[in-house]
Amino acid sequence: MIRIKIDRGDLQERIDRHDPGWIDAAKSKTDALEADPASEVASIWSPIKAVFMELQHSKCIFCEKEIENQPIEQDVEHFRPKNNVKPWKVPDWMKDGERITVSQPVTGSEPGYRLLAYNFLNYAAACKTCNSTRKRDYFPIAGSTRKCGAKNPARMKTEKAYLIYPISDIDDDPEDLIEFRGLSPQAKLTTGFGRKRALVTIELFRLDDTDERPYLFKKRAEKIWLLHLCLKQIEEGNAAERADARRVVDFLTSPQSEHTNCLRCFHKLCQEDPVEAESIAAAALALWTSVSP
Ligand SMILES: [Zn+2]
Repeated sequence: MIRIKIDRGDLQERIDRHDPGWIDAAKSKTDALEADPASEVASIWSPIKAVFMELQHSKCIFCEKEIENQPIEQDVEHFRPKNNVKPWKVPDWMKDGERITVSQPVTGSEPGYRLLAYNFLNYAAACKTCNSTRKRDYFPIAGSTRKCGAKNPARMKTEKAYLIYPISDIDDDPEDLIEFRGLSPQAKLTTGFGRKRALVTIELFRLDDTDERPYLFKKRAEKIWLLHLCLKQIEEGNAAERADARRVVDFLTSPQSEHTNCLRCFHKLCQEDPVEAESIAAAALALWTSVSP
């Protein structure tokens, strides 16, 4: 997961250019919902999905996997669920070891964030696995009050949301909280709420689960090996080979590549601990070229 850097005004402009009138329609629909909270939430977000796909370089906002530009492959994700919030069960190891607790009723759903249904700072493009299988209507918070009636996602810090919203600068930078050791994501901080946010995000999307998300690991392995080869080429190749290799390294560590956070961490490790990096690259090659059962 990486931050998608864009100013709120620039994002609004992009949406306006793509679909003139969408911003006004969203505002009047929000006003109508506020006036009559029982009214239906109409789906008007699909027409601006392309804006988020372009902004995110056709990657899932959560797992950084490339997603095809087809409706079957990706969703417009409402970061804070619009209808209901389902209770998320904290795994036992998190309760005991990390002392992670969530504020929610023991059974039954809570009301969703209806006034954020048409707020583009509550949107992101996500793959089907992250959105439909993993996230669903979960939105665990640590704060005592869920701000279901709020209209501005930039002013909801007191909720202490566990999940991280990566678009614009209204939330923490994911790379300040989640780092990779080889193929696996982990919390970057050793204590504090930032550590808990990282752990819950990794757990909820199963970003570190080789059984449930083997494809993520294979792709990370493939890219790590490629990055490793190119870094070698920069050291050992001729001038033309070095230039080509630099282009690939620049691309792989840019937001345009899949798995940018993972690759940036591996690049850093190559400089700080070349022996460990060499061993990770060898393991990545083995995984990438292994035949799946
Ligand atoms: Zn995903």
